[in-house]
Order: sequence, then structure tokens, then C-alpha cells
Amino acid sequence: MDKILEVKDLHVNFATYNGTVQAIRGVSFDLNAGETLAIVGESGSGKSITVRSILQLLAKNADIAKGSILYHGDDLLQKSEKGMDNIRGNKISMIFQDPMTSLDPTMPIGKQVAEPLLIHNNVSKKDAMARAEEVLRLVGIPNPKARMKDYPHQFSGGQRQRIVIAIAIVDYPEILIADEPTTALDVTVQAEIIDLLKELQQKIGTSIIFITHDLGVVAGIADRVAVMYAGKFVEYGSVNDIFYNPQHPYTWGLLDSMPTLDTSEANRLNSIPGTPPNLLNPPKGDAFAPRNKYAMEIDEEEQPPYFKVSKNHYAATWLLHPNAPKVDPPASIKKRFEKFKELGGSVK
Ligand code: ADP
Ligand code: MG
Repeated sequence: MDKILEVKDLHVNFATYNGTVQAIRGVSFDLNAGETLAIVGESGSGKSITVRSILQLLAKNADIAKGSILYHGDDLLQKSEKGMDNIRGNKISMIFQDPMTSLDPTMPIGKQVAEPLLIHNNVSKKDAMARAEEVLRLVGIPNPKARMKDYPHQFSGGQRQRIVIAIAIVDYPEILIADEPTTALDVTVQAEIIDLLKELQQKIGTSIIFITHDLGVVAGIADRVAVMYAGKFVEYGSVNDIFYNPQHPYTWGLLDSMPTLDTSEANRLNSIPGTPPNLLNPPKGDAFAPRNKYAMEIDEEEQPPYFKVSKNHYAATWLLHPNAPKVDPPASIKKRFEKFKELGGSVK
């Protein structure tokens, strides 16, 4: 498969009054043409900073201390600001969580969708507006010709997110980064937006990096899943590996806290006890150890390496060391997933 993006050993720090926050601590992954990679983890685990690093959309106090981000073999971290402007919104574009703050309330939506074309390409205004109309139709805005003149507040939340997606794809980017694009939306609209992204992927062939804190959403859209904790990927594999053969106790915890449509007692949400570590002063050993009921002595001392589970499936947990005691995943996650399938959820 064609690798279009390779992130290698990324480290991102933030300078704060209290010291240096080590937000990203050695993240590596790649993205193949046409695939969807999901990055999943609790709030604060470093998902947004990972993808914002790709486009260098970071706060002023950020320092990309180490690593490389190769896009078709070219290191984006070595590019000038001007070089990055040619990539952003054109080759790689991003959809943010809150559709309202991504749209300009004072500008008709047609102009907003056409704008990236006018910035990046030598197209006439007329052609750009024609393309905007076409893309608005593609994302499912009814009667786009007439509605191009309307302002963001004249649309529903779900429609606004469709408009944000239209802006992101109007230039047919090679990579679309969606940072919790459905979190602010209600469940039905969430499902519609996921379906839309899948459809767009087929139509325009874009690769997607999809960020969410909700593993349930991942099943329907991702080819591969990376589970993130305290600035590291703790497990990654195909969507089937992560759902049917998860190895990291943190992944077990996320699976167990997956919301299901069934709210019966046996199936209620089990959130993971405890809180993530303070990244001002990351622990010496495994960052998940204090919340891990299977933690061993070595977890306090040393960070686990990646152990290979199967081809393309890796997990960083000492439980996979040949000398570790054999621990089975909790039965509740199996039940939860069976229930999920029964209720109509599907794994890609
Ligand atoms: P997620 O998207 O997974 O919720 P983020 O990537 O936004 O998490 O944040 C990762 C970590 O980086 C968090 O601990 C957050 O507090 C820290 N962080 C993000 N931006 C800044 C900043 N500008 N200054 C200091 N710390 C930051
Ligand atoms: Mg985030």
C-alpha cells in the first residue's frame, strides 16, 4: 500500500509557568492512501496536539522537540510557513469539533466554501462559486444554489457541520483530518455525519484521520485504530484487532466505557477509575500503571516497549512480556461488544 504520511517519533512540549508539559512523548504512525485511521483516547491524551502538529497549528508555547512528519517523503517540519500554506486546506485539511466556531457568522456560506479555492488555485470567482455549489450538494445541503447566500445561523447544527466539511473538501484534499467532528452533535446527526465521511471517502478517495474519545464511533468508520494515553500510542491495530483481540488494559477500559444503546444495569457505562498522569512530570514507568489493576512491579520502574501481537498489531504493556502472568480481558467487554453487534453496530 502507498504510504502518504509517516509520523516518526514525535515529541511535543509546552512551556508553561509551572514547567514543561510533555504532551506528546514519542508518537509514530503512518497513513496509507485511501484508508481511515482513528485515534482514540480520553480527553487530554494528546489526540488534537498530534494532528495539529501535522499542520503546525499549535499554540505559541508549543515546541516540536523531536521527530519528523513525512508527507510523500517530504518533512513538513522543515517547511517554511509559505510552504505549509500550500499544504493546509489544500493537500491536508482539517475539520474541528465545533462547527459554529469554524464558520464566519458574517459571511454567506457559499463564499466561505469557495474561499479555499480562491486562496490556493488560479480559479475565477465564478468557477469557485460553481464548485462550492457542487460540493454543498455533495455534502447533502438541499437546494444549495439558493442557500449559498444564507448565513451560518440559518442552518441547523448538523447542516453547519456539513458546511464545515464542504469547506474542508472543496479542494479535494489527499488527507482529511477530522478532530471529534461529531462530538457536539446529537446521536442521530452523528451517525449521518459518519455516513457522509464514508461516502466522501469513496467519492473523492481521501485518506482520513478520525479523532474521537468514543470507541463506539470507530467501529463503523476506521480501518485501523490507534489508542492514545498520556501522549503515547499504547495500542494500535486493525479495527478488528482492537475490538476482538484488545491487549492493553487501557483499551479494555475504553471498550468497557463504550456507550451502547442498551441502558440496562448489566450494560451500563463503566468509566475507567482514576485520572491520567500529570505530564509536567511524567512517571518513570508505565503512565497507565496507577489505574491498571493488573500492574506489576516493573510497570512502576520502566516504560513497556511495543510488543507485537500479530502483523500490524502492537501494544505497549508489560502483560505481553513472555514472563508476565497470563491475564484474560474482562468478560464484560466481550458481552458489551456482542450487544453492540446485536443492536446493529457493525465492524468495517
Ligand atoms: P486531546 O485532544 O486528546 O483531548 P490535547 O491534544 O488537546 O488532548 O492535549 C494534550 C495535552 O497537552 C493536554 O494535557 C493539554 O493540557 C496539553 N496542552 C495542550 N495545549 C497546551 C498549551 N497551549 N499549553 C500547555 N499545555 C497544553
Ligand atoms: Mg482534542
